[in-house]
Amino acid sequence: MRRRQFVHGLAGLAASGLVWPAFARRQRLRVGIVGGGIVGASIALRLAEGGADVVQFEKTAPAAGATRNSFGWLNALVADPHYQALRIRSIAAYHEIDGQLDLGITWGGYLNWARDQAGTEFVRANAAQLAHTRFPARDLSAAEFAALAPSLEPGPVAAAIYSALDGHLDPVRATLSFLQHARRQGARMLCPCEVRSLEFQGGRLRSAMTSTGTIPLDRLVVAAGVDTPKLLAMAGYKLQLRHAPGFLAHSRPAPMLTQSICDAPGGVEFKQMADGSLVGTDSPEPPDLPVHAQIREQAGDFPDEALRTWHGTRALDKIKAFLPTAHDVPLDHVTLGFRPMPSDGFPVVGAVPGAPDLYVVVTHSGVTLAPLLGEYVRAELLGGKNIAELAPYRPGRFAQG
Ligand SMILES: Cc1cc2nc3c(=O)[nH]c(=O)nc-3n(C[C@H](O)[C@H](O)[C@H](O)COP(=O)(O)OP(=O)(O)OC[C@H]3O[C@@H](n4cnc5c(N)ncnc54)[C@H](O)[C@@H]3O)c2cc1C
Repeated sequence: MRRRQFVHGLAGLAASGLVWPAFARRQRLRVGIVGGGIVGASIALRLAEGGADVVQFEKTAPAAGATRNSFGWLNALVADPHYQALRIRSIAAYHEIDGQLDLGITWGGYLNWARDQAGTEFVRANAAQLAHTRFPARDLSAAEFAALAPSLEPGPVAAAIYSALDGHLDPVRATLSFLQHARRQGARMLCPCEVRSLEFQGGRLRSAMTSTGTIPLDRLVVAAGVDTPKLLAMAGYKLQLRHAPGFLAHSRPAPMLTQSICDAPGGVEFKQMADGSLVGTDSPEPPDLPVHAQIREQAGDFPDEALRTWHGTRALDKIKAFLPTAHDVPLDHVTLGFRPMPSDGFPVVGAVPGAPDLYVVVTHSGVTLAPLLGEYVRAELLGGKNIAELAPYRPGRFAQG
């Protein structure tokens, strides 16, 4: 009997219950995934759908890392055209799966405005970045601005643009949805379960040693966010990430006032979630002040609750200044997260040089990229394909030394 017929026959016998299920399962590629964030969750779904025997390891809780602390803005606002095309493809993938997976994406577009000359240059640069997309940014007159966002009080407007490309989501809800569908396809999640070391024989992966036991594996996808370098070091591979903290203020729910991502003057970025809460920041990274030294240098938390609340209140007050009808909506909580930021700012995706059974996926904008990366990892790991679009993002571009 030819091998394919034999395997086919086994699958039929397994379905009829006549074959030891573990034996039948052994015919499938055993793929471990480190990380239960949005990237690992999307990969788990696509690999399980593709027929792999998937086991996912999460040391804390699903979405506990960067994902929980993310702004959740689906965007292609980036200067590099190749990277922008990748992000646009992933946004298109979100359009396809939004309803199927009940992700609850708000497709409210991107609204960006400036009050002065310096801000206008920034708005123009953003418009130029979106010029060649399917949704080029268009200039808004005062009347168009008011019609598009009637609840917004933008203040003096020197320039305003709008693009319908962008959306936003609740990253925790989306991750849980990916995981739920992955489970339905047979993926297993071990949580809490920390991967502590890896066993190799003759350069090939044998197993992962975890806090709950040793798991034999054929392949391991490392989607461990800011912990990715620690996992790769277990295979002797060095990868450096940039330390990139960011905080977000979350309000209690307000009446619905805006659907768009609002990129306002003074570095204020905000959105309104489907539950009505306002989420945003007034600073993409901590300023270079002594009080922020600890956060600027290493992953940690605000030094005390007073500073956390002070930042949250300040950011929310600035947001509410643009939404006067929400003036009495109180702060709910403030998150501080650490972006998995490769040193050149671009994703790192692919087999790890010197450890062919290890496949790394680490990126900023992982919320935007998660669906596409799930599809690409499936095509490469299960379909034997070499996705040409991933060529600039291979881990081998970083010199080892
Ligand atoms: C403030 C902020 C704003 C952001 N805004 C946006 C945005 O608007 N749009 C966008 O697209 N992206 C944004 N990002 C980036 C985005 O959130 C991340 O790129 C994305 O969440 C990464 O997902 P991930 O699954 O790769 O990593 P993570 O969510 O960090 O998940 C990794 C998981 O691995 C687990 N883990 C680590 N080590 C181990 C181990 N040894 N064993 C078991 N489990 C382990 C961790 O517990 C964690 O849950 C933002 C990030 C931050 C912090």
